[in-house]
Amino acid sequence: MSASRYAVFGHPVAHSLSPRIHSEFGRQTGIALDYTAIDAAPADFAATLERFVAEGGQGANVTLPLKELAYGLSAHLSERARRAGAVNTLARRDGQWLGENTDGAGLVRDLTERHGLDLRGRRVLLLGAGGAARGVAPALLEAGATEMVIVNRSPTRADALSDVLGEPGRVTTRYWEDLGAQGDFELIVNATAAGRRADDLPLTLPSSLVNSMTAAVDLNYGEAAIAFLAWARAAQCRYAIDGLGMLVEQAAESFELWHGVRPQTDLVYRGLRERDALLVSAD
Ligand code: NDP
Repeated sequence: MSASRYAVFGHPVAHSLSPRIHSEFGRQTGIALDYTAIDAAPADFAATLERFVAEGGQGANVTLPLKELAYGLSAHLSERARRAGAVNTLARRDGQWLGENTDGAGLVRDLTERHGLDLRGRRVLLLGAGGAARGVAPALLEAGATEMVIVNRSPTRADALSDVLGEPGRVTTRYWEDLGAQGDFELIVNATAAGRRADDLPLTLPSSLVNSMTAAVDLNYGEAAIAFLAWARAAQCRYAIDGLGMLVEQAAESFELWHGVRPQTDLVYRGLRERDALLVSAD
């Protein structure tokens, strides 16, 4: 029997760890699958996805900058994807795409199960309002955050995210330059892409954001997470966590949607962590 076809689409995508993660899940569960990385510029994404289907593609992950386009190409949407306005997982259902967003569930599972954090009652600062922030914000609220302050380089995008979340008393937006007047937070999530490009300036954050409980979480991992995690340690955050665990957990959610089996994530996570000394975690 030939292996079923899956892929991650992005632009660029060559460095994605998803092919490795899904191959390991497949080996572990005894499911034969062929999972590749496919580079598609936004203008070519729809046609590339159609070709993938014609060649037997049954499911896809979607990463930067294609998540909102994937949302538009989905005939059906899960509640999580609808709320996020972004899709990171596509599953073939009756000849059409079902769009799902597993980022939020992946982050919450990593923080609560792997790192043992209780998110209930936390005051959350969310930095960023792009696709990843849209994915994780509803999940953090569902996990029990009492209050969420969203700050983004482009303030209108932060306002748009706050509107989608629809909880005006609980979710507010602030300007970056006013961060010093917002008090302290038990959870600070960096969902920006600052740090991915060598010429990005580090985020400027006051240490007054930090209290004795603060967990600082970067959705980035590897080199892109170094600056934020260095700030978190210097500011004496109790936890400084990168996005590698979330990456593995959101992949497991996708895998379960496609194959109906939940893979074990710890071995895969530890393998990736050991593989690259740059992937740092200080919790
Ligand atoms: P988007 O392009 O949708 O959004 C990027 C966000 O970063 C926007 O809020 C943008 O602000 C902000 N931003 C970009 N550059 C800077 C900068 N120099 N200074 C301040 N803010 C900046 O990307 P995503 O939301 O999809 O992804 C964000 C990050 O999260 C990526 O680096 C990605 O790798 C990571 N990620 C990790 C996952 C995991 O599993 N660990 C899953 C998903 C994402 P503005 O609106 O002003 O442009």
